[in-house]
Amino acid sequence: MLNLLRRIVQEVNAAPGLDQALRVIVTRVRAAMGTEVCSIYLLDPDSNRYFLMATEGLNPDSIGKVTLGHSEGLVGLVGVREEPLNLDDAPEHPRYRYFPDTGEEKFRSFLGVPIIHHRKVLGVLVVQQQDSRLFDEGEEAFLVTVSAQLAAVIAHGEATGILSGLSFAGQQARDVCFKGAAGANGVAIGHAVVSYPPADLNVVPNKLITDIGGELAQLDAAVAAVRLDIENVGRELASRIRPEERALFDVYLGILDEQALTGEVKALIQKGHWAQGALRAVVLEYVSHFEAIADSYLRERAVDIRDLGQRVLAYLQKQSSTLQREYPPDTILISEELTPAMLGEVPRDRLRGLVSVRGSSNSHVAILARAMNLPCVLGVVDMPAGKLEGMEMIVDGYNGEVFGYPSAELITYYQRIVEEEKQVSSDLEKLRDLPCRTEDGQDISLWVNTGLMTDVMRSLSHGAEGVGLYRTEVPFMISERFPSELEQRDCYREQLEAFYPNPVTMRTLDIGGDKTLPYFPISEENPFLGWRGIRVTLDHPEIFLGQVRAMIKASEGLDNLRILLPMISNISEVEEALRLIYRVYHEVREDGIDVVMPPIGAMIEVPSSVFQVKEIAERVDFISVGSNDLTQYLLAVDRNNPRVANLYQPFHPAVLHALYKISLDAQAAGKPLSICGELAGDPGGAIILTAMGYRFLSMNAVNLPRVKLVLRSISMEWAEDVLRRLLACDTPQLVRSTLESCLREAGFEFFTRPSGKAGSD
Ligand code: PEP
Ligand code: MG
Repeated sequence: MLNLLRRIVQEVNAAPGLDQALRVIVTRVRAAMGTEVCSIYLLDPDSNRYFLMATEGLNPDSIGKVTLGHSEGLVGLVGVREEPLNLDDAPEHPRYRYFPDTGEEKFRSFLGVPIIHHRKVLGVLVVQQQDSRLFDEGEEAFLVTVSAQLAAVIAHGEATGILSGLSFAGQQARDVCFKGAAGANGVAIGHAVVSYPPADLNVVPNKLITDIGGELAQLDAAVAAVRLDIENVGRELASRIRPEERALFDVYLGILDEQALTGEVKALIQKGHWAQGALRAVVLEYVSHFEAIADSYLRERAVDIRDLGQRVLAYLQKQSSTLQREYPPDTILISEELTPAMLGEVPRDRLRGLVSVRGSSNSHVAILARAMNLPCVLGVVDMPAGKLEGMEMIVDGYNGEVFGYPSAELITYYQRIVEEEKQVSSDLEKLRDLPCRTEDGQDISLWVNTGLMTDVMRSLSHGAEGVGLYRTEVPFMISERFPSELEQRDCYREQLEAFYPNPVTMRTLDIGGDKTLPYFPISEENPFLGWRGIRVTLDHPEIFLGQVRAMIKASEGLDNLRILLPMISNISEVEEALRLIYRVYHEVREDGIDVVMPPIGAMIEVPSSVFQVKEIAERVDFISVGSNDLTQYLLAVDRNNPRVANLYQPFHPAVLHALYKISLDAQAAGKPLSICGELAGDPGGAIILTAMGYRFLSMNAVNLPRVKLVLRSISMEWAEDVLRRLLACDTPQLVRSTLESCLREAGFEFFTRPSGKAGSD
């Protein structure tokens, strides 16, 4: 049964289009079940009607002609009930609807199961027989399994069909939305350019050779050519990114070293394999090995290895490189798997946005996209990337949405956002040196979250008053080993100097979860509930002590350092971390370095700490809320999993009540309170937080000007009234719609965006 299923799925996956895929399904299922009829009806989202799309056993002429309302007939009943329907005498059923052209009158038994993808009924899979009998439990279970397995494939194929221009009912498709994960903020409107690997490793055959020297020489030439391409891309990017980010290219190139991939390929050639076959064998083995690793950072490396392998193959096959392609001035680069090298191939002034079917916010591409301020959506799993060349599309990097065939209204909507972004950046010039003060005189400090040096440069030009969160793991992530204490010290000094005399809050290494280091892999079943943040560094005091020592030494003469502890879930973690930090401080002073003891803060981002704010606050100098993780842990929703992305709701009433409680408890304890999760950078979120009593909001530099504009236009009285109304809401949807209507009533429609046009709530 499993093998049979696997074969069907494989065959369906290999089908070139939806029609062919559906034909494979009906043919194979009918044969596997030994029934007389197998048919697929798909629900056209535009007309909301079922269309018979494929059949084995009914009159083939009725394909595309037989159509039913969404609750009409037995098919409609299956769809509405979202359950299988098993009948021994279908024509007797009151909902039976007879279509003379199909020739189905002779079939009495009927089994229909819904095809459901992401809660949406896509269609109904039906088998029928002449003799009157109920299908047995095994048959029903088989059909349910087939349908569940194929739903994603059908969704993908359907999207491809719709993207070919027409819906089932023959209308022009519009605003076809694909959901993914937000990789980098911003909106891009433009035309798709599909980037694909120049050669296909999967199809390279085996071949034995005798001219080993000749094959080795070919390999060397191909590897050298790829190296040169990538070095050129790196040079091309050099003026746009910082050396730290360029280091990504060195990591990438390292894969081609003799000691790594190339050496192994050569070993196989020595055994008599031709270069292309040896390359395929080594690369695919690496890829399958990396893909099987649970750790998401390492898994991402499989993409880099495959991409490099394809490039070498292209040279081996003497294909021309993709570097000479033409790019429209509004290029949206899309690919099955975007890699840093692909990104560098497009001239920067032509590149508007990035979309990748695979990948996560942890991918190198996402890091680069953020550094280059390019809207980016990753993990768009249902998007048929290969079919979209030249299509007009919109990338909503705020909400992780991509739209094909955008309607005039949608384009206008997003153009307004793009204009607004431009406007905000030019208004920023005027705002830059003005305080963030509400109309009735309440000052709010707007800080930034940083990681790469590019963030620092942008933050300064955006008028940030300090750094609320410096994610120290970012320089660790783009290095090939733990950075030495001295290297860290230089890096931290750069941050402290850049913002001097404003404060810089450095978080101690927060690895684990989705952030792992290539040289320190952590492989766990449930990484977000595992060895993360302070848990790792307290277990490795040598890492923690070295990092804290580098931070404190770097602050000499500047004294604008604050240290922040991530993932605190127990008081003992605070105490142990404080003990180590004090130790380092005294040792540094004993060494004759004149430093002051930096303020120490704890992050509240785990539910247990929400209930211990008072006890934690008594021990530290400040509290900082990590609303990203707090939302994830309160709602039990993996923040990076596209399957549950619609459940990740920062405006969930439980999140709001938790944030409010934290604020009240921190105020009662008399300790300064800041927040550094994404919510602080959302204009609506910033209003709520201000009303709750948060006075330090730390956010992505890109969002800062918008938040400043909003907060300067409101009064505390109004914000507190909005908060009262929101706290009375019992669903995230109600919170959002109430907030939006408050903003609109007050004339702030301008600030209600960006809300996902697909309504992700
Ligand atoms: C958070 O969890 O809200 C936070 C700011 O930290 P990170 O996003 O780095 O986990
Ligand atoms: Mg966090």
